[in-house]
Amino acid sequence: MFSQLRQIVEQFGEAETLPDAINLLVQQTKTTMNLDCCSIFITNKETQKLSLMASEGLASQVVGATHFNLDEGIVGLVYQKGEPINLANVAEHPQFKYLPSSNEEQFSSFLGTPIIHKRQVMGVLVAQQKLPRLFNKLEESFLVTLSVHLGSVLGKAMMDLPNKSIKKNRSLHLQGSPASPGISINKAHVLQGHIVLSDVTIETSEQTAHELRLFRGAVQTCADEFSKVATTLKDQVSKDAFVLFDVYGHLLKDKALLAAIEVQIQENKLTAKSAIKRVAESYIKQFENMQDTYLKERAVEIRDVGQRLLYHLTKHNDEKQNFSEGIILVAEEVTISMLAMIPVNKLKGVVSVRGGLSSHVAILSRALGIPAVLGASIRLKNIADSYIIIDGYAGTIIVDPNKSLKAKYNVLLKEENEMKALVDQGSDQPAMTKDGCFIEVLLNTGLNAHLDRFNEQHFAGIGLYRSELPFMLSSAFPTEQQQIKTYQRLLEQYKNFPVTMRTLDIGGDKELSYFPITEENPFLGWRGIRLTLDHPDIFRIQIRAMLRASMNSKNLRIMLPMVGSIGEVEEAKSLIQQAWKEVCIEHELTAEQFPFPELGVMIEVPSAVFIIKQLAEQVDFLSVGTNDLTQYLLAVDRNNSRVADLFDSYHPAVLQVMQLILQQSQEHNIEVSICGELAGDPIGLLILLGLGYRKLSMNAFNMNKVKYLLNHVTIPELETCTAMALKGHDGQFIKQHFVDYLDTKGLGGFVRAGKK
Ligand code: PEP
Ligand code: MG
Repeated sequence: MFSQLRQIVEQFGEAETLPDAINLLVQQTKTTMNLDCCSIFITNKETQKLSLMASEGLASQVVGATHFNLDEGIVGLVYQKGEPINLANVAEHPQFKYLPSSNEEQFSSFLGTPIIHKRQVMGVLVAQQKLPRLFNKLEESFLVTLSVHLGSVLGKAMMDLPNKSIKKNRSLHLQGSPASPGISINKAHVLQGHIVLSDVTIETSEQTAHELRLFRGAVQTCADEFSKVATTLKDQVSKDAFVLFDVYGHLLKDKALLAAIEVQIQENKLTAKSAIKRVAESYIKQFENMQDTYLKERAVEIRDVGQRLLYHLTKHNDEKQNFSEGIILVAEEVTISMLAMIPVNKLKGVVSVRGGLSSHVAILSRALGIPAVLGASIRLKNIADSYIIIDGYAGTIIVDPNKSLKAKYNVLLKEENEMKALVDQGSDQPAMTKDGCFIEVLLNTGLNAHLDRFNEQHFAGIGLYRSELPFMLSSAFPTEQQQIKTYQRLLEQYKNFPVTMRTLDIGGDKELSYFPITEENPFLGWRGIRLTLDHPDIFRIQIRAMLRASMNSKNLRIMLPMVGSIGEVEEAKSLIQQAWKEVCIEHELTAEQFPFPELGVMIEVPSAVFIIKQLAEQVDFLSVGTNDLTQYLLAVDRNNSRVADLFDSYHPAVLQVMQLILQQSQEHNIEVSICGELAGDPIGLLILLGLGYRKLSMNAFNMNKVKYLLNHVTIPELETCTAMALKGHDGQFIKQHFVDYLDTKGLGGFVRAGKK
């Protein structure tokens, strides 16, 4: 019976429409469990009813025509309790409600299980039999397991219901997590992610010659791509890393593999995509079953190469698309390269099914000032090209908004623009609180630094340059010369200011397509300084490039990401010193002529908080990366939409730790700033000021907003609010405290849509 379970769930998820899916579900469940009747009730939030959507066993006239109140009958009881109910004789239960003309009287035993998604009961699945008996443990366990699986599938499938079966003119409201503030009313532009082997369905084609040509073309493109990467890498990376790319090159020349795929195309008449899937999957299976771990690993390479071939066979030409009007980018998982694909002036919003509040896509959206909602359950194909509204404050998405909603949001949008104009007007004001306290405001940058527009008059420099972003947009490790050029542009552009460049912070969710890392727990794995210390070749090239790029401007500060121990700092410092000496000797410069750059450490791993004394002996400054620090402190994956609600920047533990960092830094006399997103968040800003932070780095988009806020608040008021907040038990209380404060100042528009 359990072996059927997976099949039932998969077929449910794959059905074309929700009615098809649920009809299939009741049929298959009835057969698999050998039932006399199987029915499904779906919760309708709007009408607050449980509607009988499908049944195999009840009379057909009651299906679609039966709607129970949420506390009515035994089905209502399952809904209320959120637990299975197993009865030998349902009619004897005091809450039993007879359904006239349903033929229900023939069934005695009843087992109902709730279908739950994100804590909400989406429906009730009911199994019935004529024989008066309790369902056994195995049957109960089967139905419960089936319902658990159905929860998430139904959660998504429900999105079809309003689209397909409810009258036109009804807007669909979806809830996700608010990831970047603002409102957007535009067309949804759906981008499909990269294809994987399991996405391909086996298909045949009579056009054998054409399919063969497609396949050979893809192999050639892939081989060219790998050999280009390999040539660039040869002198730059260690042997281990190089071998990795070489393996891919060899696989693409593997006669047995290529011939096996061609046989599938020529003899079995499969399409190129299907042939790749069939052969790659059979190889993968063979390798995965091997005992030897080295051989097991080969499965990963075959999968990668197979998927790369599929990518070249199916890739869209989104880069070349002309976007005549603004769009809201929608994808299962919006990636940084997808964002980079759309012209900035046409990108008006971002919706991603996966991704958390502090994911790098969320950060980039905020940096670009584009509203974003992440983690909403959406069926992509249903919203392609529909008009949608996104509210990046509340995390709501409205698909096909009706006239009155459009009108309402247009008013809010107008107010937003008015507020923006007001805030921008004040851009030449000093970064000073109303009571005269100066705050150093710095810029976070990484991508399109030349596009950052703001008033340099009251600006204290670059607080964080995310050096990995240009690496991510390139197809191979950039050479030292290429890096010098990139860094020089930034250092020269801001030559009158200190520029803090962070060394390569890849790993976690920041992948390089040409340096794949597969790990069970990437955020706890080979990331940031851990990776670059293991690859002194990559690290040295980057440091030398930074140093060389700064020879004229002399405004470079170097910052190390993901530091968790003093040993890492010592090692990195020694490599930096080595590179600096090399540059001095090469250019015959003395230490006075080319001083060693200031060195800093990011405080983003909790262990670093407790070694500030030792860090202060080694480096010149600290900068708190509140995004990662919050993730590691609360043990909440910053990218995981399932736990996005738990990523609470105002959690009392976050406040306490921020207070501790400041105290420790002051005690050990070391500069401390903030470069995480908290600094640009209106409430985060107020908390940080109240705690005593005076140096804050943020994206360009937030600068004017932050300045405006600074100009309207006073330090004593914020100290009082923060003292109160430090006593708070939960983030919600703390947030509300500051929202109330903003409201008393008429600044509520900073935390919700519209002006007020
Ligand atoms: C941080 O973690 O707060 C930070 C600034 O670094 P990133 O977001 O790039 O990981
Ligand atoms: Mg970080």
